[in-house]
Amino acid sequence: MELEFKKCNDFWIDNGVENLYKIFRKIEKYHPDIESKIKPDKVILQFEDINKFVDKMAEIVEELKYERLLIEEKDKKTGVKKRVKKDYILIQYGSKDSKGVNTLKEKIYTNPKDELNKIFNLITTKPKSSKSNKVCLCCGEEFSKEYQNMKQASYPMTTKIKSLGGIRGNAENYKEICPKCYLAGILEWADDYLYKYLGDKSYIFIPYNFNLVKLNEFKDKYRIFLNNSNRYCNIGENREIYGKYSALLKFYEYLIDNAKLNENPNIVWHIITVPNKDIKNIKVDKFEMMGEIFRVMKVTIGELDGDSLYGDFLNGIYIKEERKNKIEWEGTNELREGISEAFLTNNFRKFVKYFIPKNKHYIILHNDARKILEKIIINWRWIKLGIPKEHLETIKKSGNVIAEVCIHNNLNLLYKLDKVRTSEEFWSVMREISRKMISLDAENTKYINPMVLGDLISLVKEYEKDWKELRDLLEIYSCMYISIKQYKPEDNNNDNK
Ligand SMILES: [Zn+2]
Repeated sequence: MELEFKKCNDFWIDNGVENLYKIFRKIEKYHPDIESKIKPDKVILQFEDINKFVDKMAEIVEELKYERLLIEEKDKKTGVKKRVKKDYILIQYGSKDSKGVNTLKEKIYTNPKDELNKIFNLITTKPKSSKSNKVCLCCGEEFSKEYQNMKQASYPMTTKIKSLGGIRGNAENYKEICPKCYLAGILEWADDYLYKYLGDKSYIFIPYNFNLVKLNEFKDKYRIFLNNSNRYCNIGENREIYGKYSALLKFYEYLIDNAKLNENPNIVWHIITVPNKDIKNIKVDKFEMMGEIFRVMKVTIGELDGDSLYGDFLNGIYIKEERKNKIEWEGTNELREGISEAFLTNNFRKFVKYFIPKNKHYIILHNDARKILEKIIINWRWIKLGIPKEHLETIKKSGNVIAEVCIHNNLNLLYKLDKVRTSEEFWSVMREISRKMISLDAENTKYINPMVLGDLISLVKEYEKDWKELRDLLEIYSCMYISIKQYKPEDNNNDNK
């Protein structure tokens, strides 16, 4: 018998179809008379003996359930091991089994053999050519009998809120899902995707490409790197991932560094936010990595020589309270997430702003973080400008002058530089900086080169159309030197690195 599972241009169901292919391939290893193929628009399954097929598939579903959905965890108080559902999974708990272990309400997970038999029976039953046929809300195909109605467990974009008619964006009466889409949708929870728990909510990141073959190739590249036995995060230590963009940054570093991905994969991430409360009204956002940022990451990682962009750059940035000499962790985590977002969304202006110290808070950059920041600046901005590299020294040294002036006066000049809207305003701030510099005493100008401001002025005049870019560069170097000048060695004691 031959069955086809067609893609339907829905990221959840299509990933579910690709995941079915992964399961079918596993079954093939045990039963050579079962064969599956993946094509850009469908997965084809051939088998002789449905019982043999369902028996093996039931075993796999059982394994996946404990590996991906109901994981074993030690109770923090009693130390007793128990099975808990990962927090983002939108399948309800069922009643406990005879051994007192948690189960899932969906029967396909509690009794896979019987339920798979029922589902495949329905799938292999041809629709009668009558008007009573139903149309699947996901794939649009006709079918004669449903396994069950659509609900969040099989299709998470469904919502229970009555005012929305039960299904987001659809009228009340449409809740039909065909047995094939049910199967793909309910098993998608056991697929390979990224997840990250954040206390009040969780994120799941589902990759998508319209071509199922390409989607499959991409998922095969990263499958082995995921740590799915961790309840909270499967791409590294949970406490070291600060939000959705830092998770993606960490993951792209894996793809480039470990999976040796050379080209930006043609993938759109569908990021599902699942609130950690009773009504699971979810939200879906998309993220697509830009080729330019992928290139910057790849080149920079290639230059790191054993260091990592995530561990040595992002985790080497801190916020410290001016008076207390103490790391402010909440702000630090927000800062690291913000920097990741600005970088991944290719927003250098926003990236620069994150390095400006504010409200009596210092920004601390560890040595490695500073070195990597410079590599990012060069690979991301400088190369693109096409200005000879020796001129970068002028900007760097001018940043040092501005930092010195700010340290001995206040940060207002830096804030003014950040706010300039025209090149005239820019020149006016530069003149103010020059005046303030002259009033510094000899002791404070020992390590800076006051003459460099003259070079900076000729540089900006020569490349006046790029004055905003040059201002951004000047600003981030000023921030970097302010951070160096504010950083005191005794700060190290508290860094917890
Ligand atoms: Zn369907």
